[in-house]
Amino acid sequence: MEQITKIIEFSQEFSVLEISYFLASVLFIIGLKRLSHPATARNGNLWASAGMFMAILFTILFHKVKMEDGTYEGIGNVEWILGALAIGTAIGWVMAVKVKMTAMPQMVSIFNGMGGACAALISFMEFQHVPHELVQAHGMLNGYTISVMLGLMIGSVSFAGSMIAFGKLDDRIGDVKSPLLRYFNLGLLALLVGLFVYVVLLPAYPGMGIIYIFALLALIYGVTFVMPIGGADMPVVISLLNSFTGVAAAMGGFLYGNRAMLTGGILVGSAGTILTILMCKAMNRSLLNVIIGAFGGNAAGGVEDPDKIVKEISLSDASVLLSYSQKVYIVPGYGLAVAQAQHLCHELDQLLASKGVEVKYAIHPVAGRMPGHMNVLLAEADVPYEKLVEAEDANGEMNSTDVVIVIGANDVVNPAAEDDPSSPIYGMPVIRAWEAKNVIVMKRSMGKGYAAIENNLFYHPKNRMLFGDAKASLQKLVMEIKSL
Ligand code: NDP
Repeated sequence: MEQITKIIEFSQEFSVLEISYFLASVLFIIGLKRLSHPATARNGNLWASAGMFMAILFTILFHKVKMEDGTYEGIGNVEWILGALAIGTAIGWVMAVKVKMTAMPQMVSIFNGMGGACAALISFMEFQHVPHELVQAHGMLNGYTISVMLGLMIGSVSFAGSMIAFGKLDDRIGDVKSPLLRYFNLGLLALLVGLFVYVVLLPAYPGMGIIYIFALLALIYGVTFVMPIGGADMPVVISLLNSFTGVAAAMGGFLYGNRAMLTGGILVGSAGTILTILMCKAMNRSLLNVIIGAFGGNAAGGVEDPDKIVKEISLSDASVLLSYSQKVYIVPGYGLAVAQAQHLCHELDQLLASKGVEVKYAIHPVAGRMPGHMNVLLAEADVPYEKLVEAEDANGEMNSTDVVIVIGANDVVNPAAEDDPSSPIYGMPVIRAWEAKNVIVMKRSMGKGYAAIENNLFYHPKNRMLFGDAKASLQKLVMEIKSL
């Protein structure tokens, strides 16, 4: 009788757990859907967080572990789990509250790397628990081992790669450009795949030794794979690493038969993969070339010519030109985020609109330092989403535009992408600001952008520079226009 009560109790708790995972998965999906629009994104984050909270809570309360005598018991080490959760939550909370908007891409890289590290650690720990029955029946060629090995490899690459991406975004690490590194990477990848195949083809459990070597090689590959990639290829790598973390987490879901983990991993993995494909398209790069490090931001191309003339525009001339225009396009870039001038930018656009000027924003997919950076930045200043026009569509309107104001953007308006085959960004679609009747570029100096290359737009006959910090310049420009 006691046995039957136990079984009923267990199956009830099991059902509650499974239902909670199902609900958590639904919350993840709703969250992801809502993340796709700036107006609902904040709320979407909360939905997804609620799903994660639910999955964790119900796992702690209802997950049962099968003991050696065939009975089931609740999970142990609860105090350790709660302690780790508390520490992780506190660190994440403080980081998220303190982070500056401009350092957001770096933080996203760190968080992504942590996800990869978690997935890798799970696999690492679980390698010693490959079920005996499976090994006896199939050797190491079984779903459990394959999930462990894939989770370990992809998670380690994602962790190490994300740390390097963090260093690059934070300007702590430069690009290492060497053809040798490309061959080294191909060799290392072949070694990793070879070791993977070797382990899964073993007839018996090999012990932990080999897995240390495998993990170490995957970590080294993560470093050397991201090291040569730079300049205009960084957005592709960042979204690729994102998808890696999702796939590694999904492997953990397979391992534990945990549906919430599986759904979460699949959602992150597929969203990251779609983003990678979109980024490749936006940059006109093939994924294979990015992966083997064939491209990247070397400083070749667009060499500085001392005879080129840079024209400046005064604040009063800029304000008159803008006020008497019919159509103005704003091209925001990383410098707008640095200056935190998004609110002033919106004020300028409203001011011009009140004078009957049609104002739109041309959004380049890789402007800023993370996918969707400009959308997030402008949403923060409540710029209506309808005013944001994708680069390709904006290019179709450049001929009929009176003034393009480039605010803190550089690489995304660089004509070298179209007319200089020696440039590392050659082939990348850019916003053709020079096709408009007038161009005003607002930046602090003649300094280069992320790809570290010269920009001939600044010397174009139609262009005039308005030097200064974007926030200070916009403040003065708004005042000047108001006083007209
Ligand atoms: P860029 O990095 O090309 O240029 C930004 C410009 O902003 C600089 O030239 C700088 O010039 C100017 N600037 C900096 N601070 C200020 C300020 N306070 N006020 C005014 N201007 C300022 O930016 P883009 O957005 O045009 O291009 C993005 C680049 O970043 C691309 O190469 C892209 O590949 C890369 N990248 C993008 C990622 C993404 O996911 N979006 C991820 C990683 C890299 P100055 O110093 O003279 O002021």
